[in-house]
Amino acid sequence: MALTHTHPPSCSVPHDVHREGLPLIHGEGLSRAFGEGKEPVAAVSDLTFGINEGKITAIIGESGSGKSTLLRLIYGLLEPDSGAVRYRGWRVPTPREKLIPGHDAMRMVSQGFDDLNTYANVWDNVASQLPNTDLDSKYGKTTETLQRLRIDHLAKQRIADLSGGEKQRVAISRALVNEPEVLLLDEPFNQVDASFREALQEDIRGIVEKTGLTVVLVSHDPAEVLSMADELIVLKQGRLVASAKPTLLYRFPPNAYTARLLAKSNIFSAADAGTLGINSRVALAVHPEWLELNARPEAGFMVQDVRFKGFYEELLVSNGTLRVIAINPQPGAFPMGTRVDVKVRQYHPLR
Ligand code: ADP
Ligand code: MG
Repeated sequence: MALTHTHPPSCSVPHDVHREGLPLIHGEGLSRAFGEGKEPVAAVSDLTFGINEGKITAIIGESGSGKSTLLRLIYGLLEPDSGAVRYRGWRVPTPREKLIPGHDAMRMVSQGFDDLNTYANVWDNVASQLPNTDLDSKYGKTTETLQRLRIDHLAKQRIADLSGGEKQRVAISRALVNEPEVLLLDEPFNQVDASFREALQEDIRGIVEKTGLTVVLVSHDPAEVLSMADELIVLKQGRLVASAKPTLLYRFPPNAYTARLLAKSNIFSAADAGTLGINSRVALAVHPEWLELNARPEAGFMVQDVRFKGFYEELLVSNGTLRVIAINPQPGAFPMGTRVDVKVRQYHPLR
């Protein structure tokens, strides 16, 4: 049957029964805690989710929310306490079930560059991932991968002499040279200068579109992956609190946590909303750019802090009890101490 080739023998679990109709990667009721003996800490709790083929899925959440743990469970590096991960409908072997943990169709690039050989050059770091059985193919694949990640001009340089962003590109090349079906990335842009981050994000997007690669990436800064991801999985204290397309979650955040994480949203209680002239029975998420400020000497709110961001400013505005963050698209228009009216142009009710 055609299914057998998608399920290499080295990645099988004895007596496993194939499940039809699942997304490429499927997690069901996944839980994992740490710390035996004393009170164990739940790193992920009862997670059920799907990850689609040929897409970029970002796992996001504040520090300690279980993102890396989930990534390691997906790859098969960690034993779940309960639940299971399925890849193409087959259960991903856990470390107890596979001699060298890690699913054969996946590659992971973790934080830091522990895998790189610092004193070898870029070419050798990447080529060493391939067997010597076919030297032409080894040469061709290494060349192609370095070109894809735009580091072919660095081939003869030692890793030790590269910038953080260049090292990250080598680490990704190493993972991709074997043509995995899934690339798992843990906070891949941490060590990359802001100015190079977008180029790397674009290149990864390009590879996904060209090759059909599936990417799962972890980030604690959703702003940096909003433009890059096709799907988001939002974790809070090990639990899944939202999952959908970035535009949808940004515009209609289902809870305060997601609104704050994605949009730095102001969360107003029903009473706060009343102060701002909106009649609501539930709390509201109001993104900073959904507020409009108008200077008026007798106004109740005052600009308390101005954070220059280049082509816009983030303003902290308060009336003594209620503090709000607003975006000012015309830097300099509202100096500190300016009295302003705060108008809510748009809001999203939270359950
Ligand atoms: P994130 O990647 O979102 O920052 P992690 O998955 O690394 O979060 O961690 C989630 C929780 O599990 C944290 O409280 C962390 O301290 C704990 N944890 C993760 N790995 C281990 C481990 N190997 N031993 C003990 N605790 C761990
Ligand atoms: Mg982490």
